[in-house]
Amino acid sequence: MIERGEVANSWRRERWDSFRLLTPNWQSRLPGLRYEGPRPDGYMTTKEVTQFIERFAALCRAPVRTGTDVTSVRRTGDGYHVTTSRGELRCRAVVIASGACNRPAVPAFGDAVPPSVGQLTPFDYRAPDRLPDGGVLVVGASATGVQLAAELRASGRPVTLSVGEHVRLPRTYRGRDVLWWMDSSGVWDQRYDEVDDLARARRLPSPQLVGTPERRTLDLNALTSMGVELVGRWAAVRDGRALFSGGLRNVFSLADLKMERLLGTFDEWARTRGRDAEAGPPERFAPTRVPESARLQLDLRGGETRTIVWATGFRPDYGWLDVPVLDEKGRLRHDGGVVDSPGLYALGLPVLRRRRSTFISGIEADAREVIDHLARYLAGRR
Ligand SMILES: Cc1cc2nc3c(=O)[nH]c(=O)nc-3n(C[C@H](O)[C@H](O)[C@H](O)COP(=O)(O)OP(=O)(O)OC[C@H]3O[C@@H](n4cnc5c(N)ncnc54)[C@H](O)[C@@H]3O)c2cc1C
Repeated sequence: MIERGEVANSWRRERWDSFRLLTPNWQSRLPGLRYEGPRPDGYMTTKEVTQFIERFAALCRAPVRTGTDVTSVRRTGDGYHVTTSRGELRCRAVVIASGACNRPAVPAFGDAVPPSVGQLTPFDYRAPDRLPDGGVLVVGASATGVQLAAELRASGRPVTLSVGEHVRLPRTYRGRDVLWWMDSSGVWDQRYDEVDDLARARRLPSPQLVGTPERRTLDLNALTSMGVELVGRWAAVRDGRALFSGGLRNVFSLADLKMERLLGTFDEWARTRGRDAEAGPPERFAPTRVPESARLQLDLRGGETRTIVWATGFRPDYGWLDVPVLDEKGRLRHDGGVVDSPGLYALGLPVLRRRRSTFISGIEADAREVIDHLARYLAGRR
């Protein structure tokens, strides 16, 4: 196993100070390791996740070569030639487990933002007191965006949140963590070859969830109540102005509708499986409140906005992969982790083999199937 940093590198280096997992502790499961502490319904801090993964590395005695950067993987006649910052390797098979979120995705029009406005990604952001005083425009209303908007607003700054397509969820439903419902009802076990539109499922934004000790819901209504101003999707920059799409009402209704549908699926599952008694009565939530007049533009030269935080998602980085297995958008071409080149495999990508793959608890089942394929591949070549 080759790792450019340390074990659990992404958790050590790429998260903000207040970060906590949005999945409850009991859901952090790796082969042979589960959370056994006193707060199964709590949410791990980055320090706790790091310790959890370190414990796993020790438990499985993984032979990790840390501090070793893979700079190139090339196909050779009988396998792969791997170049690292500490020498060369030859191998018959390679498993790409370099992560799905190596780089923050920032739209190209970020280059047209006036230089007087600072720009940060979630990789640079640490805490509100590291930002200059003044207004902040947070772009993107998925898990990262809503969490950073709430934290910045709570620090007393004016915050505007630019909202595109998003996934609304309550933190708890019928008295249970909403992710308990995802887990128990089998929604997360849906396999990649059963999903109607797999490409879309793999691009789905993360849900608007935060892990806090009081298990609070952090949807757009909660942010509006805190005084966060909502605007539409940021579409372009013209003459130093940010231009936002209209139609917030439609974007909100779609997210509300999808949430209602999902909650209906949970109710149906509980009813038909005789699990109603394990939870409270069905709940329904107020629709997302639409601002009376959402701004369609913001003058970035006016001094009102001092900082932009791009919470517009993350991308994998395959700059080191010299095998022609990427599509036109730079995504890996694979079938459930079996990459389009003999002996090349991938793990840890969204909806790799099931909806659960996007999360830490998804790796075990995926890894068993992918490694089974790899073992058969190696056996077949012997
Ligand atoms: C902001 C954020 C929040 C998340 N919250 C949750 C959550 O609440 N619950 C949950 O279950 N999941 C969460 N996830 C998803 C979770 O991160 C993944 O499921 C998990 O990290 C996948 O593990 P991985 O080892 O495949 O990838 P990573 O954790 O990304 O690890 C990949 C490793 O590869 C190394 N690497 C990359 N390129 C190279 C190279 N060229 N050479 C050598 N080493 C390299 C990196 O240093 C890194 O250590 C979150 C993800 C993000 C980005």
